[in-house]
Amino acid sequence: MQIDAEKLLNTSQKLANLGLNKGTSGNASVRVDGGFLITPSGLSVEQMSASDMVNMHLDGTIADSDAGKKPSSEWRFHRDILANRPEINAVIHTHSMFATTLACLHKDIPPFHYMIAVAGGDTIRCAPYALFGSQALSDVALLALQERKACLLANHGMIALGRDCDEALAVAQEVENLCEQYWRTLQLGEPHILSEAEMREVFQQFKGYGRWAQ
Ligand code: 13P
Ligand code: ZN
Repeated sequence: MQIDAEKLLNTSQKLANLGLNKGTSGNASVRVDGGFLITPSGLSVEQMSASDMVNMHLDGTIADSDAGKKPSSEWRFHRDILANRPEINAVIHTHSMFATTLACLHKDIPPFHYMIAVAGGDTIRCAPYALFGSQALSDVALLALQERKACLLANHGMIALGRDCDEALAVAQEVENLCEQYWRTLQLGEPHILSEAEMREVFQQFKGYGRWAQ
């Protein structure tokens, strides 16, 4: 558990160092025996230590050993994703600049670039707006994440998933990259969109490619 807490802290620090989260924005969780560990609410990474991570059960209760600690306000979508997606063990949420910019336009990201495949499909969906910390936000996020490892949250940010913290971080970084590229392309005109057949070939090619190999 201590090792998982340190990994979660390290992941949160990397998110800040990469500029994907600033101040108290965003949060992260990782699956552990009997539930998950989640970052505390309302603390910046500079204020966080491994002992602030909160151990929760999948029924949404806080483990007795962590009674009194305050989990991220977004524990509902972290819990719901981990409860519904057995292949996923780490969840990252960011308010990163370009993902959030596109999310404020309620834009799904189309296959304008082949790397969209790292999010698991030929689009990255934008979930409709819902209040932060609400069950409604968790419900729309879970739908937008169907067969995906990432989604945007309207007027809010993004969620990235992985088999472990490193993969979730890599997905978050790549989605932010794609959102910046898409945003830049939109400044110049309408991007050419890859066809379904072209994207099928990409998925085939990815089967043997680096960390994205399925
Ligand atoms: P927490 O500090 O409660 O994790 O909230 C940050 C956030 O991004 C809410 O959506
Ligand atoms: Zn948020």
